[in-house]
Amino acid sequence: MTDNLTSRIDSLRKERKAVILVHNYVTGEVQDIGDYVGDSLGLSRTAAETDAEVIVFCGVHFMAETAAILNPGKPVLMPDVNAGCAMANMVTVRQLQKLKDQHPDAAVVTYVNSTAAVKAMSDICCTSANAEQVVSTLPAGQEVIFVPDRNLGRFVATQCDRELILWDGFCPTHQRILPEHVELTRAKHPEAVLAVHPECRQAVIEMADFVGSTSGILGFCRESEQEAFIIATEVGILHTLQKESPGKRFFPASEVADCPNMKLSTLEKVLWCLEDMAPVVQVEKALAERARLPIERMLEVMGSHG
Ligand code: 13P
Ligand code: SF4
Repeated sequence: MTDNLTSRIDSLRKERKAVILVHNYVTGEVQDIGDYVGDSLGLSRTAAETDAEVIVFCGVHFMAETAAILNPGKPVLMPDVNAGCAMANMVTVRQLQKLKDQHPDAAVVTYVNSTAAVKAMSDICCTSANAEQVVSTLPAGQEVIFVPDRNLGRFVATQCDRELILWDGFCPTHQRILPEHVELTRAKHPEAVLAVHPECRQAVIEMADFVGSTSGILGFCRESEQEAFIIATEVGILHTLQKESPGKRFFPASEVADCPNMKLSTLEKVLWCLEDMAPVVQVEKALAERARLPIERMLEVMGSHG
């Protein structure tokens, strides 16, 4: 059944000249058919550079929206458009405008986990892989609003030794990982090192041996000489970790760190969206133009930092 689906996806992918982009949290079977599997930054960069005629985005809505903003005129298909991001919905244009009015001189740094409308009100975007670098490009003494993830914002403020005005948003999936979960897992596997995503609560970040984006965690585990790891992020990443390092052992810090929206892309839905060339994620032209600027500024920072 899976083989049959995969071969039908493969022939349609060729026929449509499509590229299939998959986030590290999506189900293993969908990761396995991806042309590119990665973190939000890698996915944005790949979407910006692809010469494919169609993009199939297996992840959540803000990611597909970013791909559509970077590729005007190119269809960006989402296997399931209902895949939203709870954190992205924690800040609205009106709420952010109120905070900007209170801090008229502040630069707004917006995590890509946000809507196009919120990006359009921002000076520069960031991902969890580059937030520190992005904030460091802002002049010392410049007031900075960081939106919407308070956990990532607090972590970046500490790393950059700089005060940031933090929005009170968070990722419910990462918030569910508690220090007591980590302690219990550590008690069972005392030899394991702990890799943590910066969307986790501060108390969990403070326990970490390594803090990084999903691709950062993958790279750390791949290159490390250790052979056992506790992983404090969404559980979907365990698939790639195990695939990349079959000889190593990986334990989720918490079994409940599951993002239901990331599981909405299935092989069937990938096939259907390629067959129907729908649903297409669309961003209104004027909004896309305004939202593109802060995303491109982020990509430029990365370009100059390698
Ligand atoms: P990264 O893959 O960029 O680390 O993002 C994590 C995330 O929560 C995406 O929704
Ligand atoms: Fe959003 Fe969290 Fe799910 Fe990522 S894991 S898509 S931040 S809710």
